[in-house]
Amino acid sequence: MSVRVRFAPSPTGWVHIGGLRTALYNYLFAKKNEGTYLLRIEDTDRTRYVEGAIENMIEAMKWAGVMHTEGPFIENGKIVQKGGYGPYIQSERLDMYNEYVNKLIDENKAYYCFCSKERLDEVRADQKQKGLTPKYDGHCRDLSKEDALKRIENGEEYVVRLKLPENTDISFEDAVRGKVTFNTNDVDDQVLIKTDGFPTYHLAVIVDDHFMGITHVIRGEEWLSSTPKHVYLYEAFGWDVPTYVHLPNILNSDKKKLSKRQGDVAVRDFEKKGYLPEALINYIALLGWSPEDNKEIMTVDEMAESFSFERVSKSGSVFDVNKLNWVNSHY
Ligand code: GLU
Ligand code: ZN
Repeated sequence: MSVRVRFAPSPTGWVHIGGLRTALYNYLFAKKNEGTYLLRIEDTDRTRYVEGAIENMIEAMKWAGVMHTEGPFIENGKIVQKGGYGPYIQSERLDMYNEYVNKLIDENKAYYCFCSKERLDEVRADQKQKGLTPKYDGHCRDLSKEDALKRIENGEEYVVRLKLPENTDISFEDAVRGKVTFNTNDVDDQVLIKTDGFPTYHLAVIVDDHFMGITHVIRGEEWLSSTPKHVYLYEAFGWDVPTYVHLPNILNSDKKKLSKRQGDVAVRDFEKKGYLPEALINYIALLGWSPEDNKEIMTVDEMAESFSFERVSKSGSVFDVNKLNWVNSHY
């Protein structure tokens, strides 16, 4: 089976160092395995959508030399999508998500939920007060589909939630972290379709990764705790689960997650300051991965040649601009 990987950013602003590293590891892994690296735009959260972000991301990736071979490209100032598994912009795939969520509802693996925001806030506040982790209380789990459809016809607002089985262990093998197990009692009945009719990331990512033939999901560790829901969704649909590769965070020198507080984080800031794209890529590759020979100055081909998940670290790496400057001056 040939390797297919993807970088799946949300168009919420400039691509930052963390996003570029995720893209780069996907790119290197595809290159090493003569696979395909595609770009997919995850724009289903309309409240966070930033005009122009898709174009800016594609331009930044092009500058950095981490270019995809399927997905959206810019031609004559316009976004065009190329590749047989598209469209690669999620807001253009809504029918598909609805079709698949309806299957889950019919099989009693998902359900309509009519709880108001006020009710959910109250439930959460109450749970917090009792020292419990806030979680949806399952109020609408057992509504019949007939009743739900009547309420929808009467114009009531609703979401669709995943019906996770109770007290069940879900495990998966992560290429960096090994076996990871969660119990469903610690996981929320995830919203799959929101009140605006758009899917959440959790539904869209599964449908897309499946239909785009993704073999390895390489992404930041902030998604690790969502993965059991994803694994359950794959099983609910009867689809094969891809290999997961969760990357450690990039940190500020105070060991907190990298943020603007301590300096530049957007790829375009480094472009504007005149860094060589090859040097930036070289330095970023080493934030969380080390080649066997511990070489510090490498071409993209050399990086791809020696790239492996076994040498991706489990703990976060500190972004050090002095080190970047050193790489930049030796490139
Ligand atoms: N859209 C998600 C993000 O912005 C992608 C997560 C994933 O790769 O599954 O980080
Ligand atoms: Zn409800």
